[in-house]
Amino acid sequence: MQIKLLNDILSNVVGRQALDIVNLLAGKKNVNEFILAKKLKLTINQVRNILYKLSHAGLVSFTRKKDKRKGWYTYFWTLNIEKSLELLESNIRKELDSLRNQLKNRESRRFYFCITCKTEVNEETALLHNFTCNECGEVYELQTDKKIINDLVLKIKKLELGISVIEKEISIVREKEVKKKAKLEKKEIKEKKAKRKAVNHAKKKIKTEKKSVKKKKK
Ligand SMILES: [Zn+2]
Repeated sequence: MQIKLLNDILSNVVGRQALDIVNLLAGKKNVNEFILAKKLKLTINQVRNILYKLSHAGLVSFTRKKDKRKGWYTYFWTLNIEKSLELLESNIRKELDSLRNQLKNRESRRFYFCITCKTEVNEETALLHNFTCNECGEVYELQTDKKIINDLVLKIKKLELGISVIEKEISIVREKEVKKKAKLEKKEIKEKKAKRKAVNHAKKKIKTEKKSVKKKKK
């Protein structure tokens, strides 16, 4: 499901080509950019250009490795799913705001249309032209077609549903992150304890060795 959602955003943010890259990165980690280029039949520079754009938007991160023989760097790319979902959500919210405004407008104001030119104007414009079409002189008719409003309502519902799905996804991703962090911290504490134990053990050993040396001297 994430891939489909991510597809939606990325076509807005970086264009179509980025979608292929995202699809190749999804569910993987540290993907070699040369493999991406090969799979997409693009040059390494083309792939890098797209990846830099994605990286600039915070959607991907990279690590790099120097090739000791050739002396150049190879980059390995990972998709940042949380950030991508956040961006998608914010884009949908913007679209939703605009649709809600349009709906409010539709419901509170009248619109007129010219049957000949198939154009539509708001009330102010119609009034300004004495309710006749500016282009052909036909008398404007009041727009009573509810289809536009129904379409808007449908679109809004769809986007609202989309947002709730994305929010769920984001919380799942974040929960995973928290668990991962907790696990790492636990591991660190355990390692520190083990280290301390080893140091204490070593100190004790030195002490007993010193004591035995002293005894021998006596
Ligand atoms: Zn007209």
